[in-house]
Amino acid sequence: MNVSEFRKRGKEMVDYMANYLEGIEGRQVYPDVEPGYLRPLIPPTAPQEPDTYEDIISDIEKIIMPGAASPACTELETVMMDWLGKMLELPEAFLAGKSGEGGGVIQGSASEATLVALLAARTKVTRQLQADSPELTQAAIMEKLVAYSSDQAHSSVERAALIGGVKLKAIPSDGNFAMRASALQETLERDKAAGLIPFFVVATLGTTTCCSFDNLLEVGPICNKGNLWLHIDAAYAGSAFICPEFRHLLNGVEFADSFNFNPHKWLLVNFDCSAMWVKKRTDLTGAFKLDPLYLKHSHESSGLITDYRHWQLPLGRRFRSLKMWFVFRIYGVKGLQAHIRKHVRLAHEFESLVLQDPRFEICAEVILGLVCFRLKGSNKLNEALLQRIGSAKKIHLVPCHLRDKFVLRFAICSRTVELAHVQLAWEHIRELASDLLRAEKE
Ligand SMILES: *Cc1c(COP(=O)(O)O)cnc(C)c1O
Repeated sequence: MNVSEFRKRGKEMVDYMANYLEGIEGRQVYPDVEPGYLRPLIPPTAPQEPDTYEDIISDIEKIIMPGAASPACTELETVMMDWLGKMLELPEAFLAGKSGEGGGVIQGSASEATLVALLAARTKVTRQLQADSPELTQAAIMEKLVAYSSDQAHSSVERAALIGGVKLKAIPSDGNFAMRASALQETLERDKAAGLIPFFVVATLGTTTCCSFDNLLEVGPICNKGNLWLHIDAAYAGSAFICPEFRHLLNGVEFADSFNFNPHKWLLVNFDCSAMWVKKRTDLTGAFKLDPLYLKHSHESSGLITDYRHWQLPLGRRFRSLKMWFVFRIYGVKGLQAHIRKHVRLAHEFESLVLQDPRFEICAEVILGLVCFRLKGSNKLNEALLQRIGSAKKIHLVPCHLRDKFVLRFAICSRTVELAHVQLAWEHIRELASDLLRAEKE
């Protein structure tokens, strides 16, 4: 949607809302629809080609408004998470379908998803251990629980362990910044021998530092064999898996108990929208369910209703699946794939520009939209370059450390980015580098 259409549609939307408010007294308080009404009204998969805006808006009146906030809000979310799961070719076990044991939920952030998975895993292992040995107290178990992630994992994993009150151990990554079987296995053996209880592993697909990928095909079977909950954090990279040429990066997801990525990062859905799937939704509802009288509702006994409050930390929730529905239909799967491909192509363009200048080096394999690079030379030199880039205020780069190296990260993010922007940014970086190197000589 271009800016002039956005302006027009935005104004129409204000009228739509004002009309609704004016006519609100004429509407029923309770909807007439039965639970499950929505799925048959919506196609089972996202459209490949874009739908028109008129079609989408008329579906709001036909499909959403008769279901009011409830059950429409819950049911559209379940169906949208199935749409998105199918776009990623997630294994059937993660989809809700009509009768599946899995399903998706929209969380606010990847941090929340990791925390929810960790807390559910903690409850699950605690109950299993107490079932085997009823004399074990929760406190005795808690102090022995250990979670694991690679040393490249996002800080939110450490935070989840901190909030969840369990130890977290960082597994040393290999030369490609990936978590491998041998390093994980070694730490697990050592911890078990010391009387600790490994229970939870976070594998990262697309690390924040350099977009590296943990080896799921190695790590997955170890987790399954050891009865460890495997959570996958693909916050950034997950969006790319809708393209067949990048789907192989998700191979091994079948070993996971939970999987999460942020459509708000790279799939054009506005913040916030973090998509989380579990294979067994009873793992979540079993851990978080409480039912005070003021939250009971009339359909409770049917058991057919998804009640997302048991899948998350907050009680109340917003109608976030609407924006997924709009974005998926406005772009179509092909439009979303084109968006991802363009960014990856531009990242490779930037990479080749860097490689043409012998003063610079590439620091990690460019797989998606992130390029890690630096001036050949000391960390101090690169810190000075970043300082100059920051002071010039034309582009924004966030650095990282890869092992002992200070590295600059060029991330392609914008919806409207073009090759010309990338070329301009590179010329700018080159000029600042030349200035810096000249000043260093003097
Ligand atoms: C961005 C990112 C996060 C944090 O995401 P939030 O949704 O802000 O919590 C976690 N993990 C990875 C790999 C990320 O790229």
